[in-house]
Amino acid sequence: MSNMHTSLLVHGYEVVIGFETHAQLATKSKIFSRAPTAFGAEPNTQACAVDLALPGTLPVMNQAAVELAIRLGLALGSHIAEHSVFARKNYFYPDLPKGYQISQFEIPVVQGGEVSFLLGEEKKTVRLVRAHLEEDAGKSLHEDFIGQSGIDLNRAGTPLLEIVTEPDMRSSAEAVAYAKELHRIVTWIGICDGNMQEGSFRCDANVSVRKPGAALGTRREIKNLNSFKFMQQAIDYEVRWQIEEIEDGRAIQQATVLFDPDTGETRAMRTKEDAADYRYFPDPDLPPLVIARDWVEQVRAGMPELPRAMAARFVADHGLSEYDAVTLTQSPAMAACFETAARASGQAKLVSNWIMGELSRRLNADEVDIASAPVSATQLAALVVRIADGTISNNAAKQVFDALWTGQGTQVDAVIEAKGLKQMNDTGALEILIDEVMAANADNVAQFRAGKEKAFNALVGQVMKASKGKANPQQVNDLLRRKLQ
Ligand code: ADP
Ligand code: MG
Repeated sequence: MSNMHTSLLVHGYEVVIGFETHAQLATKSKIFSRAPTAFGAEPNTQACAVDLALPGTLPVMNQAAVELAIRLGLALGSHIAEHSVFARKNYFYPDLPKGYQISQFEIPVVQGGEVSFLLGEEKKTVRLVRAHLEEDAGKSLHEDFIGQSGIDLNRAGTPLLEIVTEPDMRSSAEAVAYAKELHRIVTWIGICDGNMQEGSFRCDANVSVRKPGAALGTRREIKNLNSFKFMQQAIDYEVRWQIEEIEDGRAIQQATVLFDPDTGETRAMRTKEDAADYRYFPDPDLPPLVIARDWVEQVRAGMPELPRAMAARFVADHGLSEYDAVTLTQSPAMAACFETAARASGQAKLVSNWIMGELSRRLNADEVDIASAPVSATQLAALVVRIADGTISNNAAKQVFDALWTGQGTQVDAVIEAKGLKQMNDTGALEILIDEVMAANADNVAQFRAGKEKAFNALVGQVMKASKGKANPQQVNDLLRRKLQ
């Protein structure tokens, strides 16, 4: 499957996808007012006069939001505009009391750039058109009232960065991989908390289909996809639906659609407005946004090593596979755990296996973030050192890990001692055990000598059992083979 992405056709059609992603910027206060941005407060307790659009109030640009936009531009190799302009996007909706949204239109703050990622084995690059600053709207509440709706303006004025791609993606899998990579980057550089359930990172997927070589088809825009799973389902459904429409002789109408996770279908919400419908014009209440070059350089100096560069370094310095390196750079905390443990133990590959295996499994099961995992990088290093030097088997190491995780111990060596998990590395003692097992399982011995390899495994199993799991499996293998010859 993984090498089939270059020319993916669905029933003879090429899929074309472009993304618009709203990343909520992690500022303390709103983009044009001093009200807090915290999620989940009582309705209308975090909206000030500016957010309520009371007459006579004026917006004031939040410098922190601009800095976060600059960080994204630097991370994605974009041009940071020295001069960009806020515009009013006019439309009427109850959750938008001003009657317009402040956004950027003709001159956005971040221009161009790209996002690169692996799709299977293949390297993909999606070009960005732009990323612009804008404010979020409020929220209509339909559930708590009978025959009426409420408006919560807490979210009004929350800073967003809308990140727009070229229509470069050619499959739902590529679109999801793009979204995951963008998510990794915005959380990595600390501009967005990435919480998709709370709506901090939501994607609109523009989808069209065409016969290979034809002009771009008419697109429909699937709004507000807030999980990677729904993203994939929604695009796959939309593609099938569009192809069926065209095959049935109907033209696709440009439209905005919603995905319903319960039915797995997309449904038209409204026919799509054109830019002209919004009557964009520069906002006279806000001066142009001017970004001095030395500010950009200051922000650049404070940028962390980016996940892709770090992953490449893990491959070069620690001999990891590209897949492992990408997995370990999912978050700064995971990458730090790997680097600390790999340095302390000198066992990069083992550390990588343990983080991606046992540690990740426990983190998922207990819903813990790696930053607050009960087993530290230092403990993990001590554990893999004891596997590497043959003190404990991999299975025993899982018991030690469990003991550390559940707080039954803190020192790896002390836990090994207390639980009697040391491997039997004493050849003499092991040979006695093997002789006993061979005597008690003469039938298996005979079968093996008659050419049945399975009988060998049965004997290894018996020896491991007789040693209560403490024998070194490799050593058992070697000794047993020698004795059976
Ligand atoms: P609008 O201003 O109406 O939102 P844009 O031209 O800014 O439209 O495009 C919005 C998004 O739609 C971009 O991500 C772009 O790549 C994508 N897009 C444009 N045309 C198509 C198409 N024919 N098929 C799929 N995606 C498209
Ligand atoms: Mg748009």
